[in-house]
Amino acid sequence: MAIRSQIIETIDALSLSLQRLSRGGHRGFDCASDSLAKLAEWSVAPQSRSETLMDIRSDLGNCQRCSLAQHRQNIVFGCGGSTAKLVFVGEGPGFEEDQQAEPFVGPAGQLLNKIIGAINLDRSQVYISNIVKCRPPKNRNPRPDEIQTCFPFLDRQIDAIRPIFICALGSVAAQTLLNSPEPISKLRGRFYDYRGIKLLPTYHPAYLLRNTDKKRDVWEDMKMLMKEYPYET
Ligand code: URA
Repeated sequence: MAIRSQIIETIDALSLSLQRLSRGGHRGFDCASDSLAKLAEWSVAPQSRSETLMDIRSDLGNCQRCSLAQHRQNIVFGCGGSTAKLVFVGEGPGFEEDQQAEPFVGPAGQLLNKIIGAINLDRSQVYISNIVKCRPPKNRNPRPDEIQTCFPFLDRQIDAIRPIFICALGSVAAQTLLNSPEPISKLRGRFYDYRGIKLLPTYHPAYLLRNTDKKRDVWEDMKMLMKEYPYET
């Protein structure tokens, strides 16, 4: 009995819908297979266009979202290939970077260039950015509130680029991306998954300038990356 009344309800609803369509001028349905195929083709949702690096830069604007804005000369957004397979993430701009509005152009940057060269790439083939986009005063570590404010922009840059690899340079980058309090000495030396991207933490080049014995570890990390990097032959 319950089923019978459900069927009657469904037929009534259908009948009402058809009457409404008829009042709206519809005179039947074209169910020919080529018409259905065409309609199926039209109904495929357009590829959702993710935002570009330029969209993100323009959203950042003349950012005043945290107190780092008061001391900076320039926002250091990031540089390199917008379709790079490898993204390097540092901590935050230093003096030179703040002056030139480009990441890793000071002494640590010279060493990073050598590391990039050692894995048979150049700066234009990778993308380089930082956890925070403005220089912390006296190069102190960025504070958690500053990281929390700025990090979503880096995450959006990563979404726009969709790299295969992220190399996190130093504790601040590795701990932020991995949401882990472990020191870089514990985190480095293996891949992690970051939203489907292979994340490799290693020592920061500025740390290597002061601790040259750690270069060997970084080279070991880079060799792991090279083994998996899809070099074009
Ligand atoms: N150190 C960083 O972490 N980032 C830079 O851009 C420069 C130095």
